[in-house]
Amino acid sequence: MLAANPDLKCVVCYARISFDGRMKDAHGIEDQHREMTDNARQFGWLVVRRYTDNDKSASDERIVRDDFEQLVKDLAAGQTPEGYPIHGVMAVNDDRLYRRPGDWERYLKAFTAHEGRVYHDSNGLQDLYAEGFEIKGLVGVAMSLAETRKKQRRARNSHRNRAIRGQSVAAWRPFGWDDDKVSLRLDEAEAIRQAVKDVVAGASISEITRRWKEAGFITSRGNPFQYQTVKQVLLNPRLCGYRQIKGELVRDGDDQPVIGEWEPIITPKEWFAVTATIRERGQGTGLPRGGLVHKYLFTGILRCGNVLEDGTVCNNKMIGIKANDWLKYRHAYMCKKTVDGGCNRTYKRGDKTDKYVEALVIAKLEQQAASKARDLPEWGKEDQLERAIRSRKELERRWQEGEGDEAIDDETFFRNLPAIEERIKRLRAEQAEYLAKKAAAESAEEDIAASWETRTLSQKRELIKSALHAVIAVPGGKGQKAFDVTLLRPVWRSSE
Ligand SMILES: [Zn+2]
Repeated sequence: MLAANPDLKCVVCYARISFDGRMKDAHGIEDQHREMTDNARQFGWLVVRRYTDNDKSASDERIVRDDFEQLVKDLAAGQTPEGYPIHGVMAVNDDRLYRRPGDWERYLKAFTAHEGRVYHDSNGLQDLYAEGFEIKGLVGVAMSLAETRKKQRRARNSHRNRAIRGQSVAAWRPFGWDDDKVSLRLDEAEAIRQAVKDVVAGASISEITRRWKEAGFITSRGNPFQYQTVKQVLLNPRLCGYRQIKGELVRDGDDQPVIGEWEPIITPKEWFAVTATIRERGQGTGLPRGGLVHKYLFTGILRCGNVLEDGTVCNNKMIGIKANDWLKYRHAYMCKKTVDGGCNRTYKRGDKTDKYVEALVIAKLEQQAASKARDLPEWGKEDQLERAIRSRKELERRWQEGEGDEAIDDETFFRNLPAIEERIKRLRAEQAEYLAKKAAAESAEEDIAASWETRTLSQKRELIKSALHAVIAVPGGKGQKAFDVTLLRPVWRSSE
């Protein structure tokens, strides 16, 4: 066929199902392959091999995906094991292929080892040779990795939850419930229900506190109500039947909040409304403003990339601001007003900027940690250690069993032994140190994404600044335009 039609593209298809993050995997293996075959037919491509990994997670590093490994090998070799050339790859979605930065790098390297290949997935035809595609893929990987970890964490929470179900979680009965912590204490429950309605309608927590005090309510520990305790009662998801551990709702495998076995006082909708109301009011009041504590992640790191009339770039540090109330997002970054030395022409919505650049930085830091682990030179003295151990054995043998010329006396044995022992001890210590270093470098890579969310704003800013000098923000033009990530250009620090 190739002889008859030299332009014919021979492609391979990769399919995978797993139960890692996505609970409802709509695409069975057969569905995936059927979809790809249909698409191949439309392009006039010939499918020459199907690679399939069943029930394997692409985000779990302990799992070896045999067919993925085979695919990478075949791509590098340029042909399938049967000898068909590989002119392209198809997948229903790129996250079938890779969800870890290492896999992505290996795949891309093998793919681009040969010229002119095609790649197709749900996003259509894509040019994997294009400049910038490497980092784009890395961002996708970092984002899906963060998502997977979030789900794993939630799953862990819900396991823990199952374990503690039936036992008493709170030492005290919660306000609103009876001593069994399941049935309602009607007067208290009614007071809560009313308070929720009133707060959503505009009442302040102080008013509710005063009212509860006047009505003679006391906390379940027997103390008079205060502002903070009333606020805690109203913010507790237990009110609507939800569970919460460490500030996060406990969710089941389908990502739905786990419903407790007690009677709820209000509906989930009411609870979300009251918490949103309280949190919103909390913004901007309360804590005193610290002098140099930054409120937004990229204040001063973003620099204005607007080209001025004289052809120079503005380059002013951008400031973080609270977004206007009618917008969907909370904060934004902008170039300062002209009276303050800026050009006031660049504006970026905060949520998307934070999310995108954060993902880039995590990917970059992981890549650096990975290459650090990779670049650690081999220890290379295994042979020496083995030889030393062998000579000690030989020395012992000759001392104990040696005859004739081979035999050695006590004096020779004990004179030679300490030097060999010392050598073995030194080599073993060296080896242990090397293995520890290697393990540390490998775990550093894992740690970055996993611990990112637990870090404070200033810790995150330190890490960001260790990875990049600045992010140039190019203005997106007039009017409401879709957020364009290519207008944010990180200026990375070189790895040293
Ligand atoms: Zn500017």
